[in-house]
Amino acid sequence: MLTDIKSMTLEELENFIVKNGFPKFRAKQIHGWLVKSVTNFDEMRNIPADLRNFLKTSCYISVATIEKKQVSRYDKTVKYLFSFADGECVEAVLMSYKHGYSICISTQIGCKMGCTFCATGKSGFSRNLVPSEMLSQIESAQKDMNIRISNIVLMGMGEPLDNFDNVVKFIRLVSSDDNLNIGMRHITLSTCGIVPKIYELANLKLRITLSVSLHAPNDEIRRRTMPIAKKYPMDELLQACRDYFKITGRRVTFEYSMISGVNDSNDAARELARKLDGMSCHVNLIPVNTVEGTGYKKSDINRQKAFINILADKNIMATVRRTLGSDIDAACGQLRRKHLKEGGK
Ligand code: SAH
Ligand code: SF4
Repeated sequence: MLTDIKSMTLEELENFIVKNGFPKFRAKQIHGWLVKSVTNFDEMRNIPADLRNFLKTSCYISVATIEKKQVSRYDKTVKYLFSFADGECVEAVLMSYKHGYSICISTQIGCKMGCTFCATGKSGFSRNLVPSEMLSQIESAQKDMNIRISNIVLMGMGEPLDNFDNVVKFIRLVSSDDNLNIGMRHITLSTCGIVPKIYELANLKLRITLSVSLHAPNDEIRRRTMPIAKKYPMDELLQACRDYFKITGRRVTFEYSMISGVNDSNDAARELARKLDGMSCHVNLIPVNTVEGTGYKKSDINRQKAFINILADKNIMATVRRTLGSDIDAACGQLRRKHLKEGGK
């Protein structure tokens, strides 16, 4: 078994190097090359041959190879399909905003949660990603576009809290000043609502933003589209969100995909406002992206306006999210699903 060198912190790399009989200062040099996104050990020019040979026989460098790339004609959003050494693929979406570049990355290959509107949920689960594979998605996009990314959202394929240890390690690595140095305040983690893991995350007191995929004003509607709602009732989930704010001081964001005729009535808006009353939060309304085979349609613009007005009346802060890259299957899971159908892995 080769060691995943890019998932190590500098300190772990130092211990590894020293344990294997090499001088400690070499770790910093190797780490520097890894942060520069080299893809093989021979590129590490200031590392002596014996150490390079040792690394080659004992370690591997994670790489996210671009399999497919689509650029939106409308807004320059870029959608990548990346592959890893075992041939498995994930998606990432690079978005350009006034304040810089933001990337939406994947945390798992597929997802076990099975939400009915989600393309990722429909393709099943293959495996977790390791921290280096999350880093590599960012590095590959930066290299490809020759840019520096300033924001990360964990909203691609997979449920981050179902891959807790790897995701937390990734957050610590990517935000570290000897690594990509993307501050925790520029990282958002989105979850479908695995309650005990929300508490576990809160207790780590990371300075990231937690985003919770609510998509319904009550359990009855939520259970129709999100199987996780059968395990954790909405009351418990909302209590976990209140506690998350209490423990971390960070406001929670809610995602609400508006599906025509399912969760977008005026009654639904009023009930949602009641449930969120008094919470320090923000609601992102997203017209659902149509995924083949789901039968769901997005709410029309008048429905969106009526819904948001009801929330605003009750002092719940909400915005309709700009849908970027609507022409390039930018809803995560869609591109991989197509790739699978065409015979890919
Ligand atoms: N598993 C996590 C993060 C990945 S999904 C979660 O569920 O939160 C990222 C976001 O995309 C979630 O809010 C999810 O509900 C939403 N989403 C999935 N499929 C969608 C679709 N077809 N249209 C709009 N949003 C979708
Ligand atoms: Fe998984 Fe999130 Fe998709 Fe649900 S919405 S199936 S939790 S990726």
